[in-house]
Amino acid sequence: MSLDINKEKLIKEDKEHLWHAVSKYHKNTVPMIAKSGEGGWFTDIDGNRYFDGVSGLWCLNLGHGRREIAEAAYEQMLNLSYFPLTLSHEPAIKLSAKISELLQGSYTTFFSNSGSEANETAFKIARQYHAQNGNPGKYKFISRYRAYHGSTMGAMSATAQANRKTKYDPMAPGFIHVPAPYRYRSSFGDASDPELLAANYIEEVINWEGEETVAGVILEPFMSGGGVIVPSPQYLTRVAEICKAHNVLLIVDEVVSGFGRTGKMFGFMHSAGVEPDIITMAKGITSGYLPLSATSVKSSIYNTFKEEENDSHFRHISTFGGHPASCAVALKTIEIIERENIVKQVEQNSRDILSELHTLEQLEHVGEVRGIGYLYGIELVEDKQSKKPISDEAIANVIAKCKEKGLIIGKNGDTVPGYSNILIMAPPLSSTEEDLHFLVDTVKRCLTPLVL
Ligand code: PMP
Repeated sequence: MSLDINKEKLIKEDKEHLWHAVSKYHKNTVPMIAKSGEGGWFTDIDGNRYFDGVSGLWCLNLGHGRREIAEAAYEQMLNLSYFPLTLSHEPAIKLSAKISELLQGSYTTFFSNSGSEANETAFKIARQYHAQNGNPGKYKFISRYRAYHGSTMGAMSATAQANRKTKYDPMAPGFIHVPAPYRYRSSFGDASDPELLAANYIEEVINWEGEETVAGVILEPFMSGGGVIVPSPQYLTRVAEICKAHNVLLIVDEVVSGFGRTGKMFGFMHSAGVEPDIITMAKGITSGYLPLSATSVKSSIYNTFKEEENDSHFRHISTFGGHPASCAVALKTIEIIERENIVKQVEQNSRDILSELHTLEQLEHVGEVRGIGYLYGIELVEDKQSKKPISDEAIANVIAKCKEKGLIIGKNGDTVPGYSNILIMAPPLSSTEEDLHFLVDTVKRCLTPLVL
């Protein structure tokens, strides 16, 4: 059967001119080319329909085709198409105030364009903060093994997944990694409380590195791309206590978990008494409709950047950061999240979804099911006893089987060789009940039986 001319041309030009992210997946395959979307579903150029069980790259939280979001961008572009935030404009002012309200504290926000940049910004703020408050030696950052914090040099240095880094060494200096609170494959043997030990390990590192050298700890409240690791709320509470005791800034990466993904507006809100010093956000802030990210800093920290007499201003700039149209889209996105009571719905529905997914743990090849809100991981193993991860090929087969049935799901990223064995799901937060059933049902059907 001959290909339609337009499609043939698209594929040819794609292969010749478009450099895909993680391009090894593109080498010998025809890429999936999307044409249109509606809600959580999209249609490719062959007319096949798929449910996007990972919300694009965990960002399309309200699904495709929200007219009022598109109109917010359109109106803003006509009214004030661009303005830099060396000065100011209304959508950015309103959004910064709204974010502070959502964070339930007094926060001041710097806008950029991506999650990576939001984290880079956090690192620069943390170092400068310490330097201008009498601690110029505090420059190191602690992050957890398995974590992903972005692809730019500082964010990649905080990322602790060997495969993503080896070809790009040397990393930025000053990034140290510690074990994640990962019960299933604990770094602490058979200890009864590995999460507490993982938290306390951070304190040990701070002590041995010298508290006077450590600027911050960066972590996701619930690790997403690193394999969906869901510690008890006490873990973050304990890390926050440790940070406070050592004058180390707590930087919470809410790039994935922010804006409702975990069943609270922000992931850190699951842990009592935690008030992060810096919070980074991206993705769901605009539901993926336009690029935008935010680095929100406790106003008490920001205030030390305002002292004119000692030249303490932040020498950092982003041409497009806080673009008026992106801010207008973010304000509309938040309005919809609140109006449609999305966060509450996620919290309520997630209990049923998780208990359905947990039934999969009866299968020999399902080591553990983890999740919170609309973020799920299914760790696949050769057998429960050995916990040996299933092969890359076997997990690719499961994902391909789901795709054949019209469902897109993902897996944990390049961690270390042989450990990409965790299926990941993160459906749009506005998914219908039918969509969610389809997701759970299809995953179940593709895992039973699992042929290795
Ligand atoms: N932090 C986390 C937790 C992420 O998952 C990502 C992206 N997947 C980033 C940071 C980087 O975001 P971006 O791709 O927008 O730079």
